[in-house]
Amino acid sequence: MDVLQYTQAHLQFRERTRNFFANEVTPFVEQWEKEKMVPRDIWRRMGREGLLCTTVPERYQGPGHDFLHAVIVNEELSRTNHYGLMAPLHSDIIAPYIATFGSEEQKQKYLPGCVSGDIVLALAMTEPDVGSDVAAMTATAVEEGDEIVIDGAKTFISNGIHCDLVIVAAKDPAVEPPHAAVSLYLVEDGTPGFNKGNKLDKMGMYSQDTAELFFSGCRIPKDNLLGAKGQGFRMLMQKLQQERLVCSIMAVATAEQVCRQVISHCKTNSVSDKPISKSQSIQFKLAEIATEVQLGRAFLDKLIADHMEGKEINTQTSMAKYWTCEMVNRVLRESLDILGMEAATEQCPLVRTFRDSRVMSIFAGTSEIMKVIVAKNLGL
Ligand SMILES: Cc1cc2nc3c(=O)[nH]c(=O)nc-3n(C[C@H](O)[C@H](O)[C@H](O)COP(=O)(O)OP(=O)(O)OC[C@H]3O[C@@H](n4cnc5c(N)ncnc54)[C@H](O)[C@@H]3O)c2cc1C
Repeated sequence: MDVLQYTQAHLQFRERTRNFFANEVTPFVEQWEKEKMVPRDIWRRMGREGLLCTTVPERYQGPGHDFLHAVIVNEELSRTNHYGLMAPLHSDIIAPYIATFGSEEQKQKYLPGCVSGDIVLALAMTEPDVGSDVAAMTATAVEEGDEIVIDGAKTFISNGIHCDLVIVAAKDPAVEPPHAAVSLYLVEDGTPGFNKGNKLDKMGMYSQDTAELFFSGCRIPKDNLLGAKGQGFRMLMQKLQQERLVCSIMAVATAEQVCRQVISHCKTNSVSDKPISKSQSIQFKLAEIATEVQLGRAFLDKLIADHMEGKEINTQTSMAKYWTCEMVNRVLRESLDILGMEAATEQCPLVRTFRDSRVMSIFAGTSEIMKVIVAKNLGL
């Protein structure tokens, strides 16, 4: 029996999602990658199709679906073979902060726009000198009357150019220890003192608008504090389970896509008048790739089911984040070897997948940090 029970409604949603991406995204990926930017309007078109923030409740104008709908959008997006459109980050990693910790007023104000695509979200934790060690951040948030003044620089922020609303992690410099000083703030695009910097020129994910963000005397109303003051670190930790799961879904779906492509290539391409797939050394490589992908899928589906049952699976999602993100890179490396010189050209679609997937083991917590968490939770 399958671990995940997809209903007829889920299957219809998958078909609709696949068709949307096949018509509205895949034909334009080459152009977007060359332009190094996805158009702002694709977010609204996804919103109109009901593909953003699928779990946001109906009272905030969301579809109110279960998490399997989010899984479907993420998996189908992988079929477009590019990661410029960071919709799972927006829908399933950042919007849940507002849905879970936001005041009723904040939810009413922002969630409908997140669903429609009128608001694109970003989450700003990383700083030029602070990555894994979030508690070491230096951005400050100081209360002055009815306002909060934010100062600091953030970098490597996904959706950093298109974002209309950023959740910014910053510290009250008067509070110790550092963990208790971090709070989360909602900063709208256009707020004086908030400036978007350069779009970073990355090794992959060309059309993803990863950028620097700067806050200089940026004043926001006190009401834009998200959740309770000093609880930022706890809120970030609480949302990591789903964040890591979303990354693993992306990794496994990508690996499956690569596996399908490389097997098809080996069946249809020949060396010395014999399909490559008839060579035993290639068969062994393909068998290893297919096994890794299936192992990842089995582990992932179990975790999705557990997550939907509300189980605490932080250790397992950390295991999955590092293993699946490294697995997709192993699968790609082997696949490019199999493709030979074809894999040395930009015309080969797997070249983009190879570049784009490389950072999966770095963002949202590196493999080493995942292993630190697993080791700690094993009582080591
Ligand atoms: C494409 C992309 C998109 C991103 N999007 C966002 C975003 O939207 N928002 C955001 O806030 N950030 C984002 N990031 C930043 C990302 O989360 C950080 O890159 C990540 O947390 C790692 O931080 P770092 O790169 O500074 O590495 P560092 O923390 O400097 O680590 C350097 C090396 O040391 C290792 N290391 C660090 N600490 C330990 C330890 N305790 N034990 C063992 N090894 C350790 C790391 O594993 C790594 O190999 C993005 C990054 C990329 C590449």
